[in-house]
Amino acid sequence: MSLIKTVAQQARRTNVVASKASSSSAHPLGGYNENKAQLRRETTAQYYRDHDIHNAAKKDSVRLKAAALLFTGRIPSDIDLIRSAQYLQSELPVRLAHRIKGFRSLPFIVVTNPHILKVMEQYIRSFKVISSFNDGRMVKKQDQVEDFTHLLEILLDDHGSVIDDLTQGFSSCHDHVLDIFDGDEGKAHELVQSFLDKTLTSRLGIRLLAQHHLLLKDQIGKNSRYFIPRHDRIGIVESRWKPAKDIEAIARKIRESWMFHCDNPPRVKLNGHTEAEFPYIPIGVDYILQEVFKNAFRAVIEAHSNSARQMPPIDVTIAVNREDFTIRIADRGKGMKSDVINKIWRYHFTTARGRSNYGGVGDLLSMANSNEKELAGYGIGLPISKAYAEYLGGNLEIKSMSGIGTDVYLTLKHIDPHKGHSFRI
Ligand code: ADP
Ligand code: MG
Repeated sequence: MSLIKTVAQQARRTNVVASKASSSSAHPLGGYNENKAQLRRETTAQYYRDHDIHNAAKKDSVRLKAAALLFTGRIPSDIDLIRSAQYLQSELPVRLAHRIKGFRSLPFIVVTNPHILKVMEQYIRSFKVISSFNDGRMVKKQDQVEDFTHLLEILLDDHGSVIDDLTQGFSSCHDHVLDIFDGDEGKAHELVQSFLDKTLTSRLGIRLLAQHHLLLKDQIGKNSRYFIPRHDRIGIVESRWKPAKDIEAIARKIRESWMFHCDNPPRVKLNGHTEAEFPYIPIGVDYILQEVFKNAFRAVIEAHSNSARQMPPIDVTIAVNREDFTIRIADRGKGMKSDVINKIWRYHFTTARGRSNYGGVGDLLSMANSNEKELAGYGIGLPISKAYAEYLGGNLEIKSMSGIGTDVYLTLKHIDPHKGHSFRI
């Protein structure tokens, strides 16, 4: 969980950097915040005649092998930081342009929804700011890298509410999407699913790469030529990640949140390979675990709220193999009926709608944020988790026994498998 703390610190520092950037017009990024309002006005109009975006969208994205982030045992240096900045400088505009194209292919009635339009404009602004950084020339010197890194921090912060905005946007134009397909729920769902899966996993990838750069920068040290040795972490990669430790910490946090709604929420019991450690990027998996635990606690609490007996525990089993690892979260929350199970992977499907009292999770995982403040009710926990799991070269499966309980299986590839292919970011 140490990485989560760092991410939170990062977010705090981002505010400092953002205010620094806006208060000092002499600062190379000063203009960014000052021009934001103007850019906002210009972007929508420019969007339709912007050749830069059009050309960048024609290029292929260069996805990095996860193992490449490990530096294969080598200690990263200033040169690596410059390379990392250069990679992001050329790669991020391509990824953003692809996504802008995705927005462009949405039906007009959807893209003009204020929440969705806001996100599209954010993407266009970010595209412009990154591609025009240093007048479009690759960064070469330390101070340029420093400025570019500050810019990344501001942009990460800027995009913090994208999931909330898209969720609100798509949920408020659900009826319009249905109209487009003459009331065909399946087709409407397909459109939303393919757009959100792509946009949210691309966002995860961009944020992982940007965070990696920021953490590398922290680790290498500001004006230092020397790497501050952190044997347990290189950028976003924890070199000795212990799943049991994250599972316990996340379960504890979610259990505490449920204590606002229930005196004695179920316990979480771990078994299997609880001592296993290996190199991994915890950010995505932590997000998924958080969502799965929220659901498991809710199911057990709702199913047993009228019983005086202690609630049945949530059992978590860890199995680590050479190619991948699986985490199974098994609850006795009475499972789901088939009409529910058929819809759980759909964005916005929930059986908790209107239960706005399910609020309460604090600042856990602000980086990958979604409905982090709420314990249930948006219906996006499972579909986003599945999309993330698949992006990370794995899968998320659910087996439910109606009347008994639910087993969730999260399987993910190692970043450095003994044989076979890892995933790319
Ligand atoms: P939300 O939690 O906001 O409802 P999710 O996407 O996380 O959205 O879950 C969708 C629905 O799937 C839930 O509303 C619930 O009906 C069902 N569900 C998910 N996990 C479980 C579980 N462990 N036991 C019973 N039902 C579940
Ligand atoms: Mg949920």
